[in-house]
Amino acid sequence: MKISKLLKDSPTSFIHMLAAGFLLASSAAVRAEEYDPATKVHVDGLWLRVHAEDCPALILKEEKKTMTLGEADKAGYRIGVSGQSGRENCCFKGYQRKHPQKELTDDTILCGNNEKRNVKHVAGCHRYWPDRSDLRRPLKDWVADGFKVCPHCRERGPAASTISDEEWGKLGPPGNFTAPSGWVPKAFHPDRLPSPEELEILIQETLSKGAAIQELPFVDPVASMENFMTMRFFFPVHQWLNLYMAYRVTGDSRIRDTLLVSARHYHKLSVEHPSVGQLKAGVPEGFAYMFSMAASARITLQMARKRPDLVSRDELVEAEDFLRTMAMILKPTCEGDGSALDPDMGVPKALADDFRTRAFNRSMNGIGTLGIFTAALEDLQAIKKNKAFQPMIDHYQKVVKEYLEYWFSQGHICPETRGFYYPYKPENGKARMEEGHPVFRRPEDAGHYSHTLQGVVFLYESAPELGVDDEFMTAVANALHHNSTTKIVRQGRSVLSGHVECPVMSKVRPYGKRNDKHQYSPARERFYVLQAFRDDLIDGLCASLNETRKQAANSEYDKRLATRYAQYVKALRKDRRLIHLVGNPR
Ligand SMILES: [Zn+2]
Ligand SMILES: [Zn+2]
Repeated sequence: MKISKLLKDSPTSFIHMLAAGFLLASSAAVRAEEYDPATKVHVDGLWLRVHAEDCPALILKEEKKTMTLGEADKAGYRIGVSGQSGRENCCFKGYQRKHPQKELTDDTILCGNNEKRNVKHVAGCHRYWPDRSDLRRPLKDWVADGFKVCPHCRERGPAASTISDEEWGKLGPPGNFTAPSGWVPKAFHPDRLPSPEELEILIQETLSKGAAIQELPFVDPVASMENFMTMRFFFPVHQWLNLYMAYRVTGDSRIRDTLLVSARHYHKLSVEHPSVGQLKAGVPEGFAYMFSMAASARITLQMARKRPDLVSRDELVEAEDFLRTMAMILKPTCEGDGSALDPDMGVPKALADDFRTRAFNRSMNGIGTLGIFTAALEDLQAIKKNKAFQPMIDHYQKVVKEYLEYWFSQGHICPETRGFYYPYKPENGKARMEEGHPVFRRPEDAGHYSHTLQGVVFLYESAPELGVDDEFMTAVANALHHNSTTKIVRQGRSVLSGHVECPVMSKVRPYGKRNDKHQYSPARERFYVLQAFRDDLIDGLCASLNETRKQAANSEYDKRLATRYAQYVKALRKDRRLIHLVGNPR
């Protein structure tokens, strides 16, 4: 990206204001409606819910039982609700029930551990990550022992499916890391190679966290797919990212095999339930459920180009399968149904509207996944020595480019810090201008910036020619370094800000309040990768910590991995064909 161009193009574009306007339309209160009790309804697998024939949230209709609306009401099913806690009304709007809905009872099985005074859940709750060591007991027994019940679980009501004892016994990560005796974790030096022993420990720690399959293995597979649909992917799944980074910094085959477990799982899900995958990938956030597929395929194909002797025919076939399946899943959203494309962006209208309205952190990891996907297709094409995938590559690169150009158009390269700033979500020219700088209505907070940055890093690695190049990454590093090292005055107090603002923004209207949830936090490991673009970056992120606290923070697993990953990205700047840093060649 040309910084000089961005400096000129301040975010004063009003072109897309109209498209954003629909967000303002309020949903009026739902009026009571009459429905024929003989209407056919489809019964969910996970929760006691039923849906209408044409409900947009209904998945796998052909695999579901049906009954009548009257029967469902009498049996206590929740009618026409979806979402994690059942707060969305997806169908049968305005339905007036005749009978009470089923609630949790004394005998409902709730799960959790016996040590902490945390709330107890129904398996499948979005607030609960079960582990095989957790207990499953009737609600009344937990309550008798002084435990509380999760309010989301109460609101949502009972489950319709369970997890078998056999599957329960496999839940949770292996957790089999044992530190060698006498080993004390120590921070990695940003510029020095850790010892082989330290790297092997990092590998062991990573492997002990498993493959991080997200949805639970219910007895009814439809229930698992409904559980999958409620998963959020706007941030990269932490462990998939760990595996990916650990591979890039070690080249270790055990790590790659574990990433493959996730890739194969989501490949199988996509092939067996394409309609579910396509619905999940209906917006960019959902693309990222295929991150491990894209990353595994890319690594295999990079290797096949560089060291063909090390890659088997089966591995090549599998990588191509992952990419073909991704193309099948992405097609309806990214290629559309043949109706007119958005006149400004040249991508399907619904996708363009999503770009122009959704918070950037929600989409960027999905866009980053597309970047990896297109780079892998280019590798595949080079190996096959043909141009069969070129139209697909061109199309998906255009999708990424349109998204990035739109994001850049909403952002600001500040001439004072040479840093890149952007609003939490598109503001489409509504930011007021002061001294030639935009004052965003809501500047991005550092937590969400870290999600966005992860997608951006994927694009830097896979497709820098689309705009996320060395110059842009340096601008991001500049903004975050400044944010961590320069106090602002907010409500009369001198503080480091939890929002990433340029000096004019923080002077004219410092965003945020004391005690709001976006306070400054030092040593965010997601930002450590930017050490590849500024040698003082990690020091800057830790500037508010004393030496003891800094060493303690940087000795944590996440920080050691991120510090080493920054070394990989720094080496990648010099050699774009680099697959991984030292280690086992496979
Ligand atoms: Zn519904
Ligand atoms: Zn719960």
